[in-house]
Amino acid sequence: MERPVYVIGHRSPDTDSVCSAIAYAALKQQLGEQNVRPARAGELNAETRFVLRHFEVPAPELLVDAAGVNLILVDHNEVGQALPHLEQANILEIWEHHRLGDLRLPRPIVFHCEPVGATATLISELHFVRGVVPARAMAGLMLSAILSDTLGFRSPTTTTRDRDAVARLAPLAGIERPAAFGEELLRVKLEAAERKSPAQLVGDDFKEFVMGGRRVGISQVEVFRAGALAARKAAILGELRARREAAGLAQAIFMITSVADQSSELWFVGEKPEQFEQAFGALEDGGVVVPGCMSRKQQVVPRLEAVLR
Ligand code: MN
Ligand code: MN
Repeated sequence: MERPVYVIGHRSPDTDSVCSAIAYAALKQQLGEQNVRPARAGELNAETRFVLRHFEVPAPELLVDAAGVNLILVDHNEVGQALPHLEQANILEIWEHHRLGDLRLPRPIVFHCEPVGATATLISELHFVRGVVPARAMAGLMLSAILSDTLGFRSPTTTTRDRDAVARLAPLAGIERPAAFGEELLRVKLEAAERKSPAQLVGDDFKEFVMGGRRVGISQVEVFRAGALAARKAAILGELRARREAAGLAQAIFMITSVADQSSELWFVGEKPEQFEQAFGALEDGGVVVPGCMSRKQQVVPRLEAVLR
């Protein structure tokens, strides 16, 4: 038996990371690569559990270490967001929609990265290019991932291709009204956020970046209304500080994105706050509100990188 190849997304997996891995592994299998399997790099969040239950798909295998494993990466290409010992993995392909990261590989591979709203958009397009019609459940997973990553097409990361992909997938998935399904996903996500502990709020969608040679952590949580977490600020900032110190990060940011207000509040801890202020404006009580800001990858990372570089 050939050694397995695992398709895997980032740590603190979201719906796009999990569903893109499952759908791409299924496509590979349909194309005759029987040794390709989906995996996940952490616990599933509430929204992803809802999606897998809805389409009756089992959770993929949990991997905790990349050493010696054949991997196809989806939805990430930064070492700090991947399984530990990624440098000891055999990476075969990357399918992605974030900035180019810090991964250096010894040989040429398939590296497919485009600025669309979700990795699942690229995976769904690949189905159609290859002439493979996704099974109902796989269509449902990809549709869910696109609606999740784009916050129901509200995020400025949304492209025509994401809308087109959802329109093509919806009938295959048996979803008559994708917009309503997107709202249901969002409700599941926002309700789960309200129940989270400060450690979960900070840790569940925490990503590390290298900017100007320093490591920066940015956590994001979506809420319905701005100010939803104001009463818990001290406890959340305490967690953010502890996490920054434990991981040895230069700076850590907690991004609270309000879906209804189309804005984000950024809370900051760490070195050189003046650099953060240069990017986002004056901090008041450790935070700043940025109107129109909803995307970590498109609106927070580039602005911070510009001043840290
Ligand atoms: Mn993701
Ligand atoms: Mn994604």
